[in-house]
Amino acid sequence: MLPYQTLDEASAALGRNLTYSETLWFNYSARKSDYFLYCHTILFLFFVFSVIPLPLAFVEIARMVGFDRYKIQPKARLSLPEMFRCYKDVMRLFFLIVGPLQLVSYPSVKMIGIRTGLPLPSGWEIVAQLVVYFMVEDYTNYWIHRFLHNKWGYENIHRVHHEYTAPIGFAAPYAHWAEILILGIPSFLGPAMVPGHMITFWLWIALRQIEAIETHSGYDFPWSPTKYIPFYGGADYHDYHHYVGGQSQSNFASVFTYCDYIYGTDKGYRFQKRLFQKLNGELETSGEQNGGSYHISTQDLKSD
Ligand SMILES: [Zn+2]
Ligand SMILES: [Zn+2]
Repeated sequence: MLPYQTLDEASAALGRNLTYSETLWFNYSARKSDYFLYCHTILFLFFVFSVIPLPLAFVEIARMVGFDRYKIQPKARLSLPEMFRCYKDVMRLFFLIVGPLQLVSYPSVKMIGIRTGLPLPSGWEIVAQLVVYFMVEDYTNYWIHRFLHNKWGYENIHRVHHEYTAPIGFAAPYAHWAEILILGIPSFLGPAMVPGHMITFWLWIALRQIEAIETHSGYDFPWSPTKYIPFYGGADYHDYHHYVGGQSQSNFASVFTYCDYIYGTDKGYRFQKRLFQKLNGELETSGEQNGGSYHISTQDLKSD
């Protein structure tokens, strides 16, 4: 709720005219409590979990031929009922854990100083804070995720997230309830260290989940804008972690690649990449000679 009754009062307090986006924010938020505004996070998460994975789920079910070459594990196909079961399980977690967690975590959001008032942050401020949030989350998530791959952590908690050895977008938030709670800490740490505006917080929560859905999508598109982000892991990078499964000691990081590089936990993935490049180079040469071609992917090396 804003401490001004009218736009003129807000302008007088800021000592300038409100920008267009500040006027929109004033009209929307002036009479709403901070708690009500914070609860919008639940709606955004529901939208992201339900809508963002849909286009690639449609591509997978319709078996659109043009997209097949971008599928990371081409032989792994989930049916519509299997996808729906995944979404249903995620929604159960959403209503039992994620939603209630948002409802009760408001005091901590208030305590760290997430603000709802005017002025709104500049675009640069929002971008700078989001970069910090992603880096803090990536580093903290790396160590928690690596810890969850010890025998106890995997068997009791993390095994659930690894049920999908060839993940789809809907499976990004599919995890044990305890993992959802534990991994809430890295997501919260960035905003706690560099608190910003509620709009930045909403953007952070939505972008982090959209990023997770992309990395679990099962498709690696060379034209994805995320390819331009330095040290970004992406779908192929995290898909390898799911493909290897419980024994995986590779690709723990959630967003970037540098933690796995620094701590030496990307060796299996790098070895596989080099092997594929070599094999596909040889196949291309022999394919040109024999008039045919074949492309090796992750699944061709699967032992079972
Ligand atoms: Zn894992
Ligand atoms: Zn995953």
